[in-house]
Amino acid sequence: MRASDALLEELVTANRILAREGVVDSFGHVSVRHPDRADRYVLSRARAPECIEAEDLMEFALDGTAVDAAGRKPYAERYIHGAVYETRPEVRAVVHHHSPSVIPFSVTPARLSPVMHMCAGIGVRVPTWDSRTRFGDTNLLVTNVEMGRDLAATLGSRSAILMRGHGAVVAGASLREVVFNSIYLQLNADLQMKAQMLGAVTFLSDGEVAAVLRTRGSFTFERAWEFWCRRAGRPYEPQPMEGPLAGA
Ligand SMILES: [Zn+2]
Repeated sequence: MRASDALLEELVTANRILAREGVVDSFGHVSVRHPDRADRYVLSRARAPECIEAEDLMEFALDGTAVDAAGRKPYAERYIHGAVYETRPEVRAVVHHHSPSVIPFSVTPARLSPVMHMCAGIGVRVPTWDSRTRFGDTNLLVTNVEMGRDLAATLGSRSAILMRGHGAVVAGASLREVVFNSIYLQLNADLQMKAQMLGAVTFLSDGEVAAVLRTRGSFTFERAWEFWCRRAGRPYEPQPMEGPLAGA
């Protein structure tokens, strides 16, 4: 069964928002798990996110095999997505990006942690996966199932992970959530870099991160999604809001 047109349009919107906000450029991608087939996900053919249309979207098995390629060339790094969906049944959307803001934190021992309340969704500390540890000298791309699974194992139950000298992966329960956390991961990296030039940084405590996430509901993602849709020139389709502060 094909994913609904509404979901495909939402995935197009997610691509356009990430491009508009500078998280992805010519490279990087976002996928969504198939709502009726947990063993499949939807991801564009190999194309810059800003250019993606609904007809570019393809279905894949978790091992990266295209269900119906129809001559379309898939992303070489689609294995990231399948491995995360395979490892994390609750994950419904995945972003992989090369935001320049996060790269310095992937190639130094510097800790990347929330410095601002809006960035709590990146997790108390974002770890780094180094492809060289297990796979030696490669072109750094995740080009097979084994590499994807190794990355997913390091991600564990977290929402975000850095890839040494390469980029990051963000996983979450919805497209709105992974887009939100991808944008705020990038912002946190920028803010932390600036703060560190001024002096020692006070990060959010583990308890503060937990408190922010407890009071965050779908209304948080919804307000941001509408704003980002407007900026990206995409139609906004509201979703029912949930959460303790829905009217805030
Ligand atoms: Zn990549």
